Amino acid sequence: MNIILMGPPGAGKGTQAKKISEELGLAHVSTGDLFRNALRSMNEFGVKANAYMEKGELVPDSLTNEMLLDHLEKNKDAMAAGFILDGYPRNVDQAEHLANVILPKLGTKIDAVLNIAVPSQKLITRLSGRRTCRDCGTSFHVEFNPPKVEGVCDNCGGELYQRADENETAVAKRLDTYDQATRPLIEYYANKGELTEINGDQSMDKVFADIKESLKG
Ligand code: ADP
Ligand code: AMP
Repeated sequence: MNIILMGPPGAGKGTQAKKISEELGLAHVSTGDLFRNALRSMNEFGVKANAYMEKGELVPDSLTNEMLLDHLEKNKDAMAAGFILDGYPRNVDQAEHLANVILPKLGTKIDAVLNIAVPSQKLITRLSGRRTCRDCGTSFHVEFNPPKVEGVCDNCGGELYQRADENETAVAKRLDTYDQATRPLIEYYANKGELTEINGDQSMDKVFADIKESLKG
């Protein structure tokens, strides 16, 4: 099963993708994580993407599409049960590229498109309190999902940090970029009859229960 997980920054895509991946054995593919890991290893994708990410802008489609295909092709074995796309596609051109180039190349298809909806005014609180593990990418929240030991990842013991694009200016730009470029994808997939709406304004466990229920259908 292959799933697209959509939603604004801070909606809970990463949090839910991790739970789905553990429950169903699907590979979690976050283009944001791929860019951050690429930057850490000073790989060309990360170095080129960094200036856009710091400003809260989208990385150009050509670079993003190439990086994603490269990752999916190199990790085919880990995708045997399927994958969850988190943070991709982020505009209509990427959605078309996914449908017309990437999926045919991999010989596979998308089985579910889930949109996690959260009221805009709650996103800033979620993003400003987010703490992310440097090693495994798991996200915590200082108030809503605190780690057992402050600054330490429950999952792998890695160091928790605040992302470089989590400052006030970059967050505002990311939310604006979402409204301009990514929000239209809701209508794009709804018009194709492929979209399932998930209420993300509930506890993490309830959101997860709703996602599992929707995948049964
Ligand atoms: P995204 O991947 O969509 O940007 P995350 O999964 O990283 O979002 O979640 C953003 C922040 O909100 C994190 O700090 C996370 O712990 C917190 N969070 C996620 N889901 C919920 C929820 N249902 N209620 C409250 N906070 C949440
Ligand atoms: P995320 O971790 O999903 O919040 O993404 C962090 C940043 O990475 C975004 O603000 C973009 O700069 C970049 N990025 C991630 N995914 C994409 C994508 N599909 N298209 C363009 N830029 C992306």
